Amino acid sequence: MSDLYAQLGVRPLINALSTYTKLGGSIMPPEVTAAMAEAAACHVNLEELQVAVGKRIAELTHNEAAYVSCGAAAGLVLATAACITGDDPAAMHELPDLTGLKNEVVVHRSHRNGYDHAVRSVGVRLVEIGGAAWEMEAAISPATAMAFWTQGAMTGYNDLPLEQFIAIAHAHGVPVLVDAAAQLPPVENLWRFTQMGADLVAFSGGKDLHGPQTSGLLLGRQDLIRACALNGSPNANIGRPMKVGKEEMVGILAAVKWYLGLDHAARAAEHERMVADWCAALNQVPGVCAERSFPNGAGQAVPRAKVMLDTARLGLTADDLVRRLLDGDPSIAVAPNDATSFYINPYTLNPGEDAIVLTHLVAHLRQAQPQ
Ligand SMILES: *Cc1c(COP(=O)(O)O)cnc(C)c1O
Repeated sequence: MSDLYAQLGVRPLINALSTYTKLGGSIMPPEVTAAMAEAAACHVNLEELQVAVGKRIAELTHNEAAYVSCGAAAGLVLATAACITGDDPAAMHELPDLTGLKNEVVVHRSHRNGYDHAVRSVGVRLVEIGGAAWEMEAAISPATAMAFWTQGAMTGYNDLPLEQFIAIAHAHGVPVLVDAAAQLPPVENLWRFTQMGADLVAFSGGKDLHGPQTSGLLLGRQDLIRACALNGSPNANIGRPMKVGKEEMVGILAAVKWYLGLDHAARAAEHERMVADWCAALNQVPGVCAERSFPNGAGQAVPRAKVMLDTARLGLTADDLVRRLLDGDPSIAVAPNDATSFYINPYTLNPGEDAIVLTHLVAHLRQAQPQ
């Protein structure tokens, strides 16, 4: 595996969990690392590069404009700042002090999650609404800077439909930001939300796009993308601590090209094959029941296997098994769920690792069988 990690005493792991930031997100293909290495070898004007890369990414993803952030969460900061300041340098200078500026963001109560800290870091107050149109109408005021939508596993239950959310916001001149950080696949999401009318959409570069882990995309309206750039590094504004390097800029462009060029149908079929093979083999093991589950925990359009244990019969809980896999050699990360079940995900595995995961899982389960 990796000498580099071994020398540091850090064990690499097989990731059957998800494009989880804590586990390294995803693995960059050679096209991406080659572009980054080439970019690292010489100086360039960073603002010029950002504009050129953004133009190319916008064309490739059927968007008006694009900006490379250092992650989707950084994109949420810049997008919120952009909706407040436009291209007014005095307002940019004041952030996160919002005296005299719009200071409210409307959001579905059900969409509240840890990543909205990025939005709040600009100084705004989140005004929560339920799923009725009148609630959104009542929540919008002259202080409203933006309407914020998170697309994820929590989206859809009792929400306004996104189209209606956008229509109400636009009727009041309020721009809409969509956090779609983990919403790939399907690849079409790169243009689906903007084509629905969202003004800015944030994606993570380090999840299924397979770009640099510290990269992200903002896609959307030209004037707002420009305001994001002005609020961002290298300008000494609110986005300056979220610096994007030349390597990340060319790396995410290479990743977007690579991702658009994938045979997504073949990839989906391969994921289905892995899940079907896992379920067939695991259902042969006494005390174990496995089934296909869709979509996955982040709401991504990828199947996974749900593994359910007869814990009394096996004499071990799902948590015990998750821990044994992680402590094993190789170390294997699966997705915990509850005391009797967990998930295994196919889409973050390197070629051949699906068989390794299965072999070790079955060995642990057989070992637990009463003799
Ligand atoms: C992963 C994630 C983020 C953060 O993305 P980064 O690229 O790691 O900054 C934000 N929002 C949601 C919903 C996510 O899943």
